[in-house]
Amino acid sequence: MLPVKQAEALILSLVNPLSPAQDTEVLDLLSASQRILAAAVTSALDFPHWDNSAMDGYAVRFADVQSCKAEQPATLDIVEEIPAGYQPQQTIQPGQAARILTGAMMPAGADTVVMQERTQRQGDRVTILEAPEFQAFVRQRATFYQAGTLLLQPGIQLNAPEIAVLAAAQCAQVSVYRRPRVAILSTGSELVAPDQPLQPGQIVDSNQYALAALVQQLGAEPLLLGVIPDEPEALKSAIAQATATADVVLSSGGVSVGDYDYVDEILATLGAEIHIRAVAIKPGKPLTVATFAAPQAPQARSVLYFGLPGNPVSALVTFWRFVQPAIRKLSGLAQGWEPTFIKARTQQDLRSDGKRESYLWGYLQLVDGDYEFRLAGGSHSSGNLINLAQTNGLAMLPVGQTAIATGTEILVMQVD
Ligand code: AMP
Ligand code: MG
Repeated sequence: MLPVKQAEALILSLVNPLSPAQDTEVLDLLSASQRILAAAVTSALDFPHWDNSAMDGYAVRFADVQSCKAEQPATLDIVEEIPAGYQPQQTIQPGQAARILTGAMMPAGADTVVMQERTQRQGDRVTILEAPEFQAFVRQRATFYQAGTLLLQPGIQLNAPEIAVLAAAQCAQVSVYRRPRVAILSTGSELVAPDQPLQPGQIVDSNQYALAALVQQLGAEPLLLGVIPDEPEALKSAIAQATATADVVLSSGGVSVGDYDYVDEILATLGAEIHIRAVAIKPGKPLTVATFAAPQAPQARSVLYFGLPGNPVSALVTFWRFVQPAIRKLSGLAQGWEPTFIKARTQQDLRSDGKRESYLWGYLQLVDGDYEFRLAGGSHSSGNLINLAQTNGLAMLPVGQTAIATGTEILVMQVD
């Protein structure tokens, strides 16, 4: 049984990220929202594009106003009014000023803006009541960004700020990684779809839907392959089909040591290399991780296979802990693959057998700036998924830790 940290590192080392040469598409800005940038972006535009005013006021020559004070103000002739979007026509000469509005282009000859509140206007003349700082309220061209330099680096997710930057830089089309394809199948002769009548002894296939929802939340594309009965031939053809179409395959069930648990055996028959058969995690011990080599290197990609445990909570916990980081890395994200652990004080005593790294589900809440963790009520059996609803954290109890007292600071894995 592999320790959790080692399993995490091994799994990440098996991931072969999407290729910036082959696995990309060009999208317009809004379609690219939340996608992963595949190529560095540079812009031909400086930012700001030209010197402009940060205030409503008057564009002046510093030399004309540097010794102003209330008893000795300077009065300047207003030669032009410059609203935003207007190109100044005049060069400001000694003794002159231009009325200027926020965001408008600085006129030639002027180097400083005096804010309106420090002036008095009389017709086409303005009196400056106090000396400004040199270049005050002027946003100089290219101070925020210089044309031709790196604007956004590949491997970042394009959220609202990045979309705004791309728009401002007039990058209307952007190269992003395609969505990873994740095939999902549920193994078990007892399973029926949620819309089928339930016969005695049958169980509703919830894993397929839970896993598909998680895959979608990661920006990947779920391919639902349905329920596969515990029959070696059926399972073999389903797994072969899955590996032919997807970057990652997730199956649930059939990986423990029961008489009908065929997944590992079939993976071996199909030529997969099995890297992990069990991880010291609770819930979730029977976790299989395998790879199928690329059929025609270097074009085709190797396929990563996760045989998740069938118990609904175990399937979700192992997804959050191991599959999610792998899909993030695969999707082209340059960093931030691992789950987020938050320090929180537990509001109850927590218990574990101490043999495996244990994850207990519950609620993470900010109280006066500090995180608190509360266990979900009801049974913490790995077969009970009902009380998993609305939880947002999994308290982690390391191996060897059998009891944690109320009020102790623990690490809680954030989930959504
Ligand atoms: P297994 O790992 O196949 O032995 O399954 C362990 C338990 O999880 C059994 O009680 C299964 O009925 C249940 N189970 C397996 N697959 C699913 C599924 N897709 N949805 C809900 N429960 C499942
Ligand atoms: Mg089964």
